Amino acid sequence: MSVYRSSRFSRLEPYVPGEQPRERKYIKLNTNESPYPPSPAVLQAVRRASETLNLYCDPTALRLRQAAAKVYGVEPESILPVNGSDEILNFAVMAFCDGRIPIACPEITYGFYPVLAALHGVRLRQVPLRAGFTVDHRDYLCQNCTVMIANPNAPTGLALTLPQIEEIVRSNGKNVVVIDEAYVDFGAESAVALTKKYDNLLVTRTFSKSHSLAGARLGFGIADPGLIADLAAIKDSTNPYNVNAMTQAAGIAALEDNGYYMENCRKVAATRAWASEELRALGFELTDSSSNFLFARHPAIPGEELYEKLRERGILVRHFSTPSIGDYDRITVGAPEEMRALIGAVREILA
Ligand code: PMP
Repeated sequence: MSVYRSSRFSRLEPYVPGEQPRERKYIKLNTNESPYPPSPAVLQAVRRASETLNLYCDPTALRLRQAAAKVYGVEPESILPVNGSDEILNFAVMAFCDGRIPIACPEITYGFYPVLAALHGVRLRQVPLRAGFTVDHRDYLCQNCTVMIANPNAPTGLALTLPQIEEIVRSNGKNVVVIDEAYVDFGAESAVALTKKYDNLLVTRTFSKSHSLAGARLGFGIADPGLIADLAAIKDSTNPYNVNAMTQAAGIAALEDNGYYMENCRKVAATRAWASEELRALGFELTDSSSNFLFARHPAIPGEELYEKLRERGILVRHFSTPSIGDYDRITVGAPEEMRALIGAVREILA
């Protein structure tokens, strides 16, 4: 740290993203990307958009909002495109939390929430999970703070039902409830339709997982136009051109080709079922994941050791050092051949 850093940020503990190794080729099952490429229409749209990169992109991303509105069944005024959903989470903390309004979130969840709370000097109320890493929706009723829940949760993959989400939103009428649906396309129920009924619900989406655009950085906030105006005010006060021209074009083409991506999600869910069964047969315990990753432990090998032995064999998974989940590894559901390689390596390690 230099002597120039503001004292406000002297104790920052930044988020540590999963590895993106360049030194050798791994089977990458560590950051929940899609194993499938963007559709040909997306590649063509990006190429076309690259021809006018001398011009600024549309700061309102109008065509992208219109395309997203069509797919999600809301009005364009209810959508804010962002530079990856991490950005909308940041905007939400800036817009809806402060010294008097803390954040309530599960104790085990996406590691970016505590980082954002610390960045903005917002208190974090971490709600313990229940047996089997479950989130009990009754723990989030009438919180008097901004509620932030990933549904499905990470890294467990466990999902709440839509009626449970609705009860949380209804009971927190004086505060904003953020439902982070990064993984919803892989098998959970979306709360997007509830944004038309409740003006305190913000649903966040990412195109990093189900829509094969992790490298393009695209996410969305979906909410009542009032909340979206608050978030857009923060966006326009920090980075008005937050979603670049190529990403806007990629997003429009991906939304127009949504069927291709939903079919990929079905393939991932089928691979998830197959790989879960194989791992259970090898003695693993797994949560009932609704997402594109598995959360697994084996009684005979600590999570960190399995992570390291897989890494030696060219397979990357994610291990978290948090003690309560230290026995586990999070394994992205890759293509069928990648998962066959994983199962083969695990079998070898256990032997
Ligand atoms: N929410 C959750 C629960 C996540 O796991 C991730 C991915 N790390 C994100 C949001 C952010 O995704 P992105 O910024 O790539 O859209």
